Amino acid sequence: MFQLALEEIISKIKETSGLSEERINSMIDEKVSELNDMVSKEGAAHIIANQLGVQLLKTAERKELQLKNLLPGLRNVTVFGRIIRVFDPVEWTKEDRSGKVGSILISDGTGTSRVVFWDKRVEMLNKDIKEGDIIRVSSAYVKKGNYGPEIHMRDKSNLEINPEGVDVPPLSSLKDFSERTNISDIQEGMQVSIRGAVVDFIPRNPFFEICPECNKRANEQDGKFFCEEHGEVKPDLSMVINVIFDDGTGNIRGVLFGKRAETLLDIEIKKLHSLGEKTDNIQAVKEQFSKVLGKEFVVSGRTRTNTFTNYLEVLINDISPVSPVKEAKKIIKEIEEETFNP
Ligand SMILES: [Zn+2]
Repeated sequence: MFQLALEEIISKIKETSGLSEERINSMIDEKVSELNDMVSKEGAAHIIANQLGVQLLKTAERKELQLKNLLPGLRNVTVFGRIIRVFDPVEWTKEDRSGKVGSILISDGTGTSRVVFWDKRVEMLNKDIKEGDIIRVSSAYVKKGNYGPEIHMRDKSNLEINPEGVDVPPLSSLKDFSERTNISDIQEGMQVSIRGAVVDFIPRNPFFEICPECNKRANEQDGKFFCEEHGEVKPDLSMVINVIFDDGTGNIRGVLFGKRAETLLDIEIKKLHSLGEKTDNIQAVKEQFSKVLGKEFVVSGRTRTNTFTNYLEVLINDISPVSPVKEAKKIIKEIEEETFNP
């Protein structure tokens, strides 16, 4: 079990992060409800401390902060990430003063943030820094920006380029990540990546037969199945489901075939089909769907207008589940192990 009382944890977070006690308390309450009351306040406080890079149990060097956990008002932070964009420095003037500001966009796979360099610190950017490089920034502070929290460099901040022992996903996947789309901004013909919860499904028989050779739909004729290319075949079973994703900015229909439908419903096609034989196919999907209702996923695909229904939809080609509870449990486990083996 945890060795620190809630008050002690809060005061350590306050001391190191510069956040107010009130703010920390509300973050703890939010975390408890985010995790459906599955953790205690102490547990939630440990998670917050961990996310903010506050070491509770050892006096070792401060941990790096993940970019998704940046909060305006944090001071003295250490972060790392891969550069996904370098912006040209621009001149600024204000009344009788003037100077330069430069910035880069970095991502660590959990989030994306702008790193801002003012005036003589813009020189730091002249050191052959380029897209794809990994940087580690320390002793910086976090400010509210137009597109989320920004990391600002100050006199005593450090910048390391391509430091050893830092693991960041490759540029291609980070670019994908940084271009995540709000559902409210979606239009026809876009390649989009959405993080949203699945909130509803359209009741329709999901099963259809495919050619085992080419995976294209096999058409039935007099009880036999034919592929346009391969003639008469003994078909495999596939499925397609239509669901609604919501990300808080809006909702959109998603169409998922085969394996992607299996991932969303968390069941194999054959198993679902055998459940359908006991009741009926739509009922089987409905029951399975109720188990994943509200679950969050990151999905990507191309948008199109369905010519039949006239609704905008995303034809999904990639899906992965997001699990905050699982993530939190993992962190708690690490913390507990740390407590026993200091
Ligand atoms: Zn075929």
